[in-house]
Amino acid sequence: MLNLYNTLSKQKEVFKSINPGKVGMYSCGPTVYGYIHIGNIRAYLLSDTIRRYLEYIGYEVRLIKNITDVGHLTDDDVAQGDSGEDKMVKAALKEKKSPEEIARFYEEYFKQVEKEMNILPAHFFPRATAHVPQMIKIVEGLIEKGFAYEKNGNVFFDVTKFEDYGKLSGNTLENLKVGARLEEHPDKKNPWDFALWLKAPENHLMKWPSPWSVGYPGWHIECSAMSTEYLGNTIDIHTGGEDNIFPHHEAEIAQTQCYTGKQYVRFWLHGRHLMVDGKKMSKSKGNLYTLEDIKEKGFSAMDLRLLMLSSHYRSQTDFSWEALEQAHKNLQRINDFVLTLEALALRDISVTNTFDVTAYQEKFEAAMNDDLNTPLALAAVYELITEVNKKNDDETLSSTDAKKILTLWKKINAVFGLVLSGQAEIPEEIKRLVAEREQARLGKDFKKSDALRILIEEHGFILEDTKDGQKIRLAS
Ligand SMILES: [Zn+2]
Repeated sequence: MLNLYNTLSKQKEVFKSINPGKVGMYSCGPTVYGYIHIGNIRAYLLSDTIRRYLEYIGYEVRLIKNITDVGHLTDDDVAQGDSGEDKMVKAALKEKKSPEEIARFYEEYFKQVEKEMNILPAHFFPRATAHVPQMIKIVEGLIEKGFAYEKNGNVFFDVTKFEDYGKLSGNTLENLKVGARLEEHPDKKNPWDFALWLKAPENHLMKWPSPWSVGYPGWHIECSAMSTEYLGNTIDIHTGGEDNIFPHHEAEIAQTQCYTGKQYVRFWLHGRHLMVDGKKMSKSKGNLYTLEDIKEKGFSAMDLRLLMLSSHYRSQTDFSWEALEQAHKNLQRINDFVLTLEALALRDISVTNTFDVTAYQEKFEAAMNDDLNTPLALAAVYELITEVNKKNDDETLSSTDAKKILTLWKKINAVFGLVLSGQAEIPEEIKRLVAEREQARLGKDFKKSDALRILIEEHGFILEDTKDGQKIRLAS
């Protein structure tokens, strides 16, 4: 049975979907006015892992991930203050591009990164700009029901009208009153009310007509509009980074539940921040890495994927180059394990003992069922690798068992989503011998070339001469 930690109830709960066999999932997607960084990647990897594991246990998942292409400020306080500042618009003006051009560029970049990370694409990526009418409809409904009010073309949600406000984040009105760091807006009744619609200043590039003013939607309303549009009033799972809990998700709950009269989300899952060398990532600290930075240092997207899977999503992972190096080694170890199994499966080895494959599957599932404990699930795999290597050395692993283990690995890896190179990592010494042999071949010194081939094979590698040059692989 799958247990998931629900931020709303603050405990692990047995997961059950609303409709048997089907899961509706919504993940807050990127704001496309800049490059996504590895911290964002971690949040998308969380939703990918849940989705993959739900599919593993037999659910049919529908995942929606929005594209925030309306230039909103990420700092809600300032957005509520309607300062007229807007990152997307600013960037557009600086680069002399239209906000739409900029948004499409970064959306493509985001999708490319997800592809390289082997994050399965959402079933749909709705864009906020294409859903303004739906947002207006919800705002109208909220005004009608008395949960929102309009003043001077701006519309705000009155949080005092929603009893459960603060339930998700713990930021109840009492707490907010004490520690409020909220900017005043002259049209707000209470400082903690949040914007649903804002009147656009003259020079604002992105604006739409509405019953209240020519303006633009508040940051939170888009997710309510798009999740109800594509997944219905109540969804099974909503994910995001921990920074989304307040005010974004708190506001989503308030406005959606007041509009539909139904529970909005059954399970709220939040990934913790990714730290870099023990510090929070930020542009000013110069430790905000993108996938390009990772690749520039010679690592792969899969090294990063394995690094992230190596810690639990609710623990604060620390990114460091040393940790990435370790992940790279572990990935190679998994890769070699698969190569060994493939080689064994092709041979005809029969031994009397059998291998308990099911025990490892059970360990993997027990770990994943416990709130997606990927590090523990990986530990089961590493244990399996050690066992296989030992048996391979003793020549006590049958071809039949090798095939069974291979089948299990493929099943497990449908959840981990690791794309393996399928190539053995060649030690430096062997690379040197291969290069030396290439020289001998070019110099037509075939005696030396043959001697080097034998030497390489003695080290457990097989050399093949192809039209593209020498190819080397691990001998089975
Ligand atoms: Zn959202």
